[in-house]
Amino acid sequence: MTAIATRLEQARRITGSFPGPRSQELARRRSAVVAAGVASSVPVYAADADGAIVRDVDGNQFIDLGSGIAVTSVGASDRAVVAAVRDAVEHFTHTCFMVTPYEGYVAVAEQLNELTPGDHEKRTVLFNSGAEAVENAVKVARLATGRNAVVVFDHAYHGRTNLTMALTAKSMPYKHGFGPFAPEVYRVPMSYPYREEAGIAGKMTGEEAARRAIGMIEKQIGADQVAAILIEPVQGEGGFIVPAEGFLPTLAAWAKETGVVFIADEVQSGFCRTGAWFASEHEHVVPDLVTMAKGIAGGLPLSAVTGRAELMDAVHGGGLGGTYGGNPVACAAALAAIQTMKDQDLPARAGHIGDIIAPRLRALAEKTDIIGDVRGRGAMMAIELVKPGTAGTTKEPNPEAAKSIVQAALAEGVILLTCGTYGNVIRLLPPLVISDELLADALDVLEAAVLAA
Ligand SMILES: *Cc1c(COP(=O)(O)O)cnc(C)c1O
Repeated sequence: MTAIATRLEQARRITGSFPGPRSQELARRRSAVVAAGVASSVPVYAADADGAIVRDVDGNQFIDLGSGIAVTSVGASDRAVVAAVRDAVEHFTHTCFMVTPYEGYVAVAEQLNELTPGDHEKRTVLFNSGAEAVENAVKVARLATGRNAVVVFDHAYHGRTNLTMALTAKSMPYKHGFGPFAPEVYRVPMSYPYREEAGIAGKMTGEEAARRAIGMIEKQIGADQVAAILIEPVQGEGGFIVPAEGFLPTLAAWAKETGVVFIADEVQSGFCRTGAWFASEHEHVVPDLVTMAKGIAGGLPLSAVTGRAELMDAVHGGGLGGTYGGNPVACAAALAAIQTMKDQDLPARAGHIGDIIAPRLRALAEKTDIIGDVRGRGAMMAIELVKPGTAGTTKEPNPEAAKSIVQAALAEGVILLTCGTYGNVIRLLPPLVISDELLADALDVLEAAVLAA
């Protein structure tokens, strides 16, 4: 990779007290005016961000291993994205694609049809958020099949709107008290190798786990009632769970045989993150529909559903859309971000990042008894923390350790995120443009924090 030009020095720096006085003052103002239901995991306020560095209002600099939840894969203010956005806003900020269409939307659709798995005829529709994309993929699948049921998995996360809350697995904080939820959503077991019960020949294989899920679908719903299977090829909020090899292809093959639409929710795992453009590619799975958001537009709000032309075009004119969907500025940002991904070969770069992170985390796991599992793909890696001495036995979740490690790393200038059904997973989502040196420095901090926990 050629070095990326950055404005901010790519180094962490904590100056004086933390959080600093300006962040504390903003926290006071915030508590009087911002709804308490929006929580922030980091107690400092951003003033600037560039490459893999976030600078706060007190001048502290943090290495960002969260990328704003897998969004700023091309860096926090990629030159090409910034230039494209500037140029776009100087022309027009909005016309509404459903009123007066424009080229950017069409060009993004061309890119997504090209980049998503499979060489079949495709169509794309654009929205603003991941949840909106997921809702619309379900709309398309239901209309195209004339069926109602949607199958989702344990540990799944698909968003916070009413339908996507129903699709999401975890109650607290995403669903608790917010019901009633949308009907015709059915949940089946995921393949979660670390916490899997033994299969017929020892550890449950991906195919066995898929057959278990399929058996439940056939018995409890009936294949001919199912519009779609919706799955994250690598689960995000649920704990960076990579299903056992064979799980996804077996489900996809069954969906094909039974006329069920296979929807890959690649909102978090997409756009180079796992070392491929899309995580489905690792097992040569070709989804019928793909949902995308997060890393798609270098930080601007944009999401998409791309899928088989015959499914997408089954929907009547006016059946899909939204006032802001495919906003021209966001489309310009997406085209620039995708160009940066190509120019810098960020899929390969994500693989390289994984090759740095994975051995370091495995070596760390040898030195402590609180890391139960190291997993992930490419630049989407995680450690699952357990109570001391339970890693190979009861695997008792240790969310307290996850919390204290993240706090300790933050005090040293490294932003880390937790996830997982049990809140005991620390996930690493660095911008893909992070330098090897900066990544190594951040991993030193993480290592010290784990060993101190
Ligand atoms: C974040 C996420 C969503 C929801 O995206 P929003 O933009 O927050 O609505 C959906 N699916 C997956 C897999 C996600 O990670």
